[in-house]
Amino acid sequence: MFFKDIIGHSELKNKLIHNVNIGRLSHAQLFSGLEGSGNLAMAMAMATYIHCTNKQENDSCGTCAACIKNKKLVHPDLHLSFPIVTKSSPTKKVSDDYIQEFRKEYLNNPYMGYFNWLTSMTNEVKNALITTEEGSEIIKKLSLKTYESEYKILLMWFPEKMNVQTANKLLKILEEPPEKTLFLLVSEYPEGLLPTIISRVQKVHIPVLTNKDIEQELISNYNVPEENAIFIANFCEGNFNLALEIINNSEEENFNLINFQEWMRFSFNRSKQVALMPWIEKLASFSREKQKEFLSYCMQAIRKNLLRTLSIESMVREMPAETSFNIKFHNFIHAYNCGNILAILDKAVLDIDRNGNSKMIFLDCTLQISHQLNMKVPIA
Ligand SMILES: [Zn+2]
Repeated sequence: MFFKDIIGHSELKNKLIHNVNIGRLSHAQLFSGLEGSGNLAMAMAMATYIHCTNKQENDSCGTCAACIKNKKLVHPDLHLSFPIVTKSSPTKKVSDDYIQEFRKEYLNNPYMGYFNWLTSMTNEVKNALITTEEGSEIIKKLSLKTYESEYKILLMWFPEKMNVQTANKLLKILEEPPEKTLFLLVSEYPEGLLPTIISRVQKVHIPVLTNKDIEQELISNYNVPEENAIFIANFCEGNFNLALEIINNSEEENFNLINFQEWMRFSFNRSKQVALMPWIEKLASFSREKQKEFLSYCMQAIRKNLLRTLSIESMVREMPAETSFNIKFHNFIHAYNCGNILAILDKAVLDIDRNGNSKMIFLDCTLQISHQLNMKVPIA
């Protein structure tokens, strides 16, 4: 990955490059940013620049042996550490056991999120971790001399997925780092790290992308028509990984996914309801069949969210773009309102079937669902 391939963030890129060139290279840096911000890509570009033997003023050269190896994630002094699923395959204990899959997934999409990665390892809904074995593996690797470059680099994606034992091992080598070793931690949730780790790293914050950045990228490099690009950028709220999923999905998949998420946002957050009427008018312009299909998708989605709230996640099947929304949304679906919401949606299907006025039906539904989502849950 080169800096030129990363969307937006030009000021930050210049600052990182400048720091390397004036020799102000902190031995441990934490690249924090939300999914789709480019935090992983930025750390990869940084590793490539550090290893490049013919550094240019604004980027790596792209042609030296180190650049070519880093581009394919095969540089022997770039050590990658990331969460893995161990339960479905007991022989796989450390990140390197999944390195081929990781390279393939990352090279296909440097903006990949946790759920894309999880889906590429397993079909089951599992949690991925940076294992205790990985902690020992890191210590072993970093105790070796560098192979080809001045620095060996440990790039860890999702350090917040380390258990306490592994985190303590990492802390120990952060405190007494082996010679010529750099640490690049890439986190979406730095609050999940030990404060003692946080205090030993230099923080690099990667902000979410602007709508304009996403729009332009979709228009220039993905041939998305301008009107669609504006809509997608607005919907994705700075998450380019989500934008990629939307443009790769079928129209059908997107119709339900986007409308459900928009509808729930309107319903939950009353301040967003200024955009409600245009949304209802658009939805009511589709055929009654399509409206009913949409309502049935919503019912399924509400059920999945209840399962998640009840921690029965292994029964939940969904696309990454659904998961990244539901992982937060499910907190608003619980035993006290799930049945009511399903009944509201069920009645809406019947009313549409009986040729009711769709605009009135969706408006009425929104007000009732809004009430349900904002209900105060009795404390048990
Ligand atoms: Zn180079």
